[in-house]
Amino acid sequence: MAKIAVIGAGIGGMSAAARLAKSGHNVTIYENSDRAGGKCRTEWFGDYGFDTGPSLLTLPAVYRDLFLKTGKRIEHILELEPVDPAFTYNFSDGKSVTFPNLSNPNTYIEIEKSFGRAASDQWKALITKSERMWEVSREPFVESELTSIWPLLKRKNLIRDIKEISPFTSLRKLTKQMKIDPHLQMIVDRYATYAGSDPRSAPAVLLTIAFIESTFGAWHIKGGVGQLAVAIEQRCVDLGVKFEFNTLVSQILVTNNKVSGIKIADGRQIEADLIVSNSDAEYLYNKLIEPKVTAARGERRKLKYAIKSLAGFSLLIGLDNSKGAEVKLNHHNVYFPKDYDAEFDQIFSKKVPVSDPTIYICAPKDESMVNGANKESWFVLVNAPRHQISGGWDWSKNSDQYAKEIINKLDQLGLNVSARLDFLKARTPADLENYAMAPGGSIYGTSSNSAASAFLRARNRSKILGLFCVGGSTHPGGGLPLVGISAEIVANAIGKA
Ligand SMILES: Cc1cc2nc3c(=O)[nH]c(=O)nc-3n(C[C@H](O)[C@H](O)[C@H](O)COP(=O)(O)OP(=O)(O)OC[C@H]3O[C@@H](n4cnc5c(N)ncnc54)[C@H](O)[C@@H]3O)c2cc1C
Repeated sequence: MAKIAVIGAGIGGMSAAARLAKSGHNVTIYENSDRAGGKCRTEWFGDYGFDTGPSLLTLPAVYRDLFLKTGKRIEHILELEPVDPAFTYNFSDGKSVTFPNLSNPNTYIEIEKSFGRAASDQWKALITKSERMWEVSREPFVESELTSIWPLLKRKNLIRDIKEISPFTSLRKLTKQMKIDPHLQMIVDRYATYAGSDPRSAPAVLLTIAFIESTFGAWHIKGGVGQLAVAIEQRCVDLGVKFEFNTLVSQILVTNNKVSGIKIADGRQIEADLIVSNSDAEYLYNKLIEPKVTAARGERRKLKYAIKSLAGFSLLIGLDNSKGAEVKLNHHNVYFPKDYDAEFDQIFSKKVPVSDPTIYICAPKDESMVNGANKESWFVLVNAPRHQISGGWDWSKNSDQYAKEIINKLDQLGLNVSARLDFLKARTPADLENYAMAPGGSIYGTSSNSAASAFLRARNRSKILGLFCVGGSTHPGGGLPLVGISAEIVANAIGKA
């Protein structure tokens, strides 16, 4: 039995801890904040409950597997609800399309109704391509430890696989080659933002998101997606994992290139045989490991070249429909701007807030997320540049003004927000940096803004012996499904006691 210290109680840290405890290890999680979940949390303000992090669960099989392998099935603990329809997309020319959940044939019908037969056929071709890409990339790029490019080069069907995933083609270039309708183009472009990236430089393989979302569905969890964190925390406790909250790990102790324990900010030193870091990889390699540890140099160099993921500016909006006319929305709603490229230029090149952003609204049809029949809680998210005090945008200022601009836009879209506004709270990238220790408020750690991005992400098994990395800033990437997979990779790499 190994004594394992996990740094951080995010979804990745806790998922790894549960699997490791089930395998017989002695596991303690050290968490800087006063609660578990990291970015994934359902928060209540008065009568309104909000998913202030993830509001969409895709590929639920990852968490079905976690619960099944560590105890009772997820269905005994959480109410997983398919969200139907899955998404409503609205465009600046007044057109819109609603994607049903879990049915590609019905999606084709909806696309035909909105944009015509040719567009529907284009989406069909896109889903077919997307599925082929998923088949080729799933095992080597998602489910396995990606240690280097060499095992990939030895694959039996290398030439066919390279042709399929077009590694040096951007997502945008691929869809331009496929000559798809401009509305559908925007929907696909948005998938790049699921990985915190710019579709003009993100690899074409992100098209797989189209297949994953449509085939495995869009899901909600009753009470909020944040209930996933609550349930995993409870699973950890049931398996004997210990938690220390309000505990900042300030250093990983390394002797002869092997971990020996951790140092806590209050001065304590705790011995450990193995360490699983759920801390952002940039923070881990630059702040928690002493510069003299040579085995960390390669990862530090890689992380320097990796472009950081975009951040988000969100509004938590409580609406009281007794104050003004209700506007009915579906669960997930996207309002695209006229010029989507301007958004990516402002975020990644100019590093300023987006003047005319894509607006995502999560308006959950979940009565357990409000107190009161006339009330609605909307989570509104727009993409944003990282918080950078020097050489970027300082989000600790100017948040009120930007919040007003977004509310005005919502009113202009006909959503009647100002009249019904009962509660408002803005969350900036600086806030996310503070409460979830996400450098710059990046949602996904590093972006996928280059063909090499998968190789620039921190490895799950560090070159420092006994150190393992889990979570959104490590392989295979951010978002709940990939984070859960990183935990499985780490638990398998460590093995049984
Ligand atoms: C606004 C927003 C919307 C999102 N929407 C979605 C979505 O709809 N669907 C989806 O799948 N994903 C979404 N995501 C992404 C998803 O939330 C993350 O990918 C995932 O939750 C990250 O999990 P993680 O394991 O990397 O841990 P994190 O959530 O990053 O947590 C890390 C934890 O480690 C702690 N920690 C770090 N360093 C230390 C230290 N030195 N000492 C002690 N503790 C430490 C932190 O305090 C934190 O609690 C969203 C994220 C945000 C912010």
